[in-house]
Parts: sequence; structure tokens; C-alpha cells
Amino acid sequence: MALEETSLLREIADRNAGEKAANDTDLKVGYQGEPGAYGEVAAAAHGGIPQGFASFEKLLEALRDGLIDEAVLPLENAVVGAITEALDPLAEFVAAGGELVAVALTSVPVRLSLATRPGTRLSDVKRAWSHPAALRQCTHRLAQMGIERVVCYDTAGAAQIVAQEATTDAAVCSRRAAERYGLEVLVDDVSDKEQNGTRFAHLRMADHARAQVSLAFLRTSSMTATSKLDVLTGATLLPLAGNAEFPVRMWVLGADAARLQALAPARDVQVISLGQPAAHAARMVTPPKQGTEPVVKSLPHATARKAPTIVEVGKLRIGGGARAVIAGPCSVESAEQVMRIAKEVAACGATALRGGIFKPRTNPYAFQGHGLEALDWLVAAGKEVGLPVVTEVMAIDQVAPVAAKADVLQIGARNMQNFDLLRAVGRAGRPVLLKRGAGATVDEWLGAAEYVMAAGELRVILCERGIRTFETSTRNTLDIGGMLAARPLTHLPLIADPSHAAGRADLVEGLARAAWAAGADGLIVEVHDDPARALSDAEQALVPARFQELARALALNPDARLPLAQLRAWVDAIDRDLAVLVQRRLEVAKVIGASKRQTGRAVLDPRREAAVRRTYKEALQGSSMVADKLVDLLLEAAKAQQSIDD
Ligand code: PEP
Ligand code: MN
Repeated sequence: MALEETSLLREIADRNAGEKAANDTDLKVGYQGEPGAYGEVAAAAHGGIPQGFASFEKLLEALRDGLIDEAVLPLENAVVGAITEALDPLAEFVAAGGELVAVALTSVPVRLSLATRPGTRLSDVKRAWSHPAALRQCTHRLAQMGIERVVCYDTAGAAQIVAQEATTDAAVCSRRAAERYGLEVLVDDVSDKEQNGTRFAHLRMADHARAQVSLAFLRTSSMTATSKLDVLTGATLLPLAGNAEFPVRMWVLGADAARLQALAPARDVQVISLGQPAAHAARMVTPPKQGTEPVVKSLPHATARKAPTIVEVGKLRIGGGARAVIAGPCSVESAEQVMRIAKEVAACGATALRGGIFKPRTNPYAFQGHGLEALDWLVAAGKEVGLPVVTEVMAIDQVAPVAAKADVLQIGARNMQNFDLLRAVGRAGRPVLLKRGAGATVDEWLGAAEYVMAAGELRVILCERGIRTFETSTRNTLDIGGMLAARPLTHLPLIADPSHAAGRADLVEGLARAAWAAGADGLIVEVHDDPARALSDAEQALVPARFQELARALALNPDARLPLAQLRAWVDAIDRDLAVLVQRRLEVAKVIGASKRQTGRAVLDPRREAAVRRTYKEALQGSSMVADKLVDLLLEAAKAQQSIDD
């Protein structure tokens, strides 16, 4: 049973694990009650250091005053529903302007033991002490035993009281608490219901500078819905005691701000919500949660729940937040051709050089690639510009000679299910770029990755390159949805190939930007400096100038090989973006000023200023003076604008 008490169900695991390790060491987490209370279990659930407080009010004050980093509050119990003892003070706190966010939910299994001083017989127990919420959970069982209920402030506190008095009274508390105060457990669980459990919210003060996670959905039996509230499907409503002004009050967990706004006019209903996530927290792509079984059991390597795999070869670093752009010709046509193009793409900030030496062509009479001779041209070009090279292998006997010199082995779309080839590249000791087959499902794509990984190569980059649909205006249909659908299934980097998807140069930039905005870990793009004469995929090649525009749009960094005029165009583009952002910031700051005036709040808030400063310092690591000056300037501009409008 003690084991069950600590086997906690983590319901929201969205906290970034890396960030957690860095920031949450020595995280002080407060709870209401004495050591041994269920709140202590919840407080310790994610590695925090529990700290007990006598009341929920004191707990929330400590959070507000920064004495603790996080507070856990019980919201709901499986037997009695809403824990009003906690929800009411929480509502008071929020109503008084306390801005909270929920960062996690923890479900603690509850076994309410009936415990006495050693030697006490069950028949002698006439009274049982506990927290009112706990006593409500065993109303019937205690009544059956003829035991009267006595309210005190905490379950573990009840154990302490019983232990200190010469009494035959019992405590209703956890086994942990009973053992802690030297009591003997007479009845393991006096709850009226098996499978009892309490959900705790982990709350922090809102820090507007950071990404925050709102409370997610949580099902409840205590649904009190009006027709308006019915729109909140998936949200949890926890009732609060009504007051004269608002006869119906409730907590809404998991609703978004817009939907709450829509509800506000509903008369007689006060809706209180915990803080909302900052807009930038809505990451479109999230890798699988860590630590448990693979997402697809039969694909243990490809779908293991682990930290994002980062593939790193020279300048190419991809996955886990690192993004890469691989660029170069479809085919390596000559030593000079690949050298020229390598210089162009490297100067624009590409992180790897591509080029085919064995070409899978639909027509057997079309150019088939210059073979191994061209590998030397490719490698020489890569070496000259300092980029690793990526090239395709089509047959098992090509694997060893190519792996001897190339940095990354590509498996083309047509070979995605050439299982012997997958096994062979898996044994070659080089990272593998695995294209998705034009007719392959996401599962089949992951299955192909599993072949490579099972053979020994764990550095696999998955590449979405368009699938075949009824559409004929593009060569393939770039399946961004499929790429995103793969994201929660695998820890492997996911990239997109807009060139083979489009089949037309005019669409490449748009598709590239779409995939990038959707969170792709990288792109592979075909570039040719004389497309009209290209030996393969002429229609889809970007000329270097167009690739340069794309590179600017993707915020790659150019190098000093570019002519000065082009470097200036690069920095001009950044200045335009920056100026537009500054303008937007001023406009939104103005709206905030108006909102504060409407709600009678002070326009200046030193805590907010500190948060803004932190945002800039984090983003501008290493130039904290620049960060400070920028913030000074922005705040000054915002204030000036506000006073002009006054
Ligand atoms: C290539 O990258 O040149 C290529 C042939 O791609 P795919 O296998 O995606 O058609
Ligand atoms: Mn091609």
C-alpha cells in the first residue's frame, strides 16, 4: 500500500525535462498539512522538496511572497468530488488578484487507514479524528462501526493528535502518517469507495515571460452545467459555494481564454480560471513523453519514449531544437558543378551538402548518375566549404564504398521498404537520412526506420518528401500533416524535402516555409546554378539567388564569402523584420495600457518590467548590456506613447 501511495500518475508531463533538471533542483513545493499528509506525497511527486503549511491560506500567501516555488492544492476526490476546503481559499486568492498558473496535475491514490495507539482494540474506538474532506470520504463505514467523526485540520495532524493523547480515539490518515507517529493500523482502508484518489494541482505564480501550461482536462462527476457551460466539453467544472452576488460559482479547468470570454455574459455564473498558457507555449510539435514504454510496442527503437535524438556530423546538427538545411544539386554532374554549388549554399548558411551519385530514375535511359567517381567530387566540394555530405545509396554493394567517404547515407523514397538495403545501411556506421516512400504510411515509414535502428544505426533522420495523391499540379503532395503526425510517435529528427514534393521551383520556397513553420527539424533542398542544363530534376532546382532568399527567410546565417552587397541585403531584411516587431510591440503595449486603465490597475508594474528584462536576457545570452539597453528603450517608448495618448 505504501508503494501505491508513491506510484503517482503524472497527468501532465508537458514540462520540458531538460529545463526541469536545470531549474527545478531544490524546487520548494508547499502543501497544506503535516508531514505524512497526502499533500506531501503530491508535493514530492516531481522531485520537489515538500514544505507543510497549517492552512491553504498560509500556503497561498507563501507562494505569493516567494517563500516557495510551487504549491500543491487538492482539487477533487474520487469519493466526495470537489475539495471545497481548498477551492474556496484558492478562489479568494484569485479574486484578490493573485495570478496563478497550473503547471501539472498529480493524482494521489488515497487509502484512508483507521489507526490507533498500539494495543487499542477496534471495539474500544469511539471517535475518529481527521480532516473534514477525509472524514466525508468514510461517512458510511465509520457510521457502520459506530465511530463518531471529529474534525481537525489535517489527516497527518490527526495521527499526531492521537499519538500524543492517552486515548482510544483513532485517526483517519495514510499508512505513512500512521507509521510516522507510531500508530497501529487497525483497518487498512475505511473509504466508502475502493479506488479512492485525490487530484492535486501544482500551482505557480504566473510568470508572463515564460511558457506556461494551463491545467489540462480532468473528468469529473461533479458537473454542474448550464446550457452555456455545455460548450466547455472536456473542461472540468468544480463547484464552489455560491455567494450573494454570484449564486453559482465554479472553477473551470482546461478551458481556453477565448471560450471563457464567451461565457462571461452568462448571468449568475462566476467563472474563475487558472492562468492560461502564454501564446508561444503552443508548440505545434511535441516529441513523445519520456520514460515509459515505446509508443508503438512493436517498434521499440523508433518509437522509444526518450529525449529527442540529435544527429550530429560536423556542421550538421539536427534534432532536439537544432535545425538544419541540407542543400545542393540533385545529381553530382561534374567536379566543377558540385564545387560551385557547394560554395553558393555554404555561403548562405546551409549545414550540409547534398548530391546524388546513383540516381533512381523512372526511365532506365535517363541519366543514372556518375557513380563512385562523383563521390570524390562531392566529398572534395564538401571539404572545401566545410560541410558534411549526404548522398543516396540504392544497392547493398554501394553501401560500403559510399560509407567509406560520405558523411550521411540517404535511402531514397523508392527504396524505403528495401529491407535488405535498410539492414545494410544500418550496419554501415553512418547516420541515415530515410525518405518516406511516396505510397508509405507514417507507420510504414517508422517501420523502415526500425529496420535501420535494429541493425545498429540509431542516428536516423526521417524525411517527408511528398506522397502520391490524385493531384497532378505538383509532382507529389507534401504531407505536412503526416510529418506532424509522426512527431509525437518518434524521438527521431523529422525533416521535409520541398523540392521533390513540389517538382516545380516556383513552389519550393512556399513549401519550405510551411514545413519550417510547422516545426520541421530541417529541410533538404535542391539547388542548381544552371537548371536548364541540369541532368536530373531540372524543373525543381532553385537557383542560388532564390536559395539565398529562402535562407534569409529561414534565418540562416550567411558567411563572409558572400559579396558585401548581398550581406547587406541580408542584414536589411533583418532590420525590416525587427522594425515591424518593434512597431507591433508598441501597439500591443498601448492596448495593455488601455486595458489597465479600464480595470483600474496601475500602468507601471515593476514585476512585469523584471519579467520583460529576463526574456531579453535569456534570448540575448552573452550580451546582457544590449538586453538591458533594448528593454530600457522599449519601455521608454511604450511609456512615452502612453502619456501622449493620455
Ligand atoms: C533525391 O533526393 O534526389 C531523390 C531521388 O529523392 P526521393 O528519393 O525522395 O525521390
Ligand atoms: Mn532529385
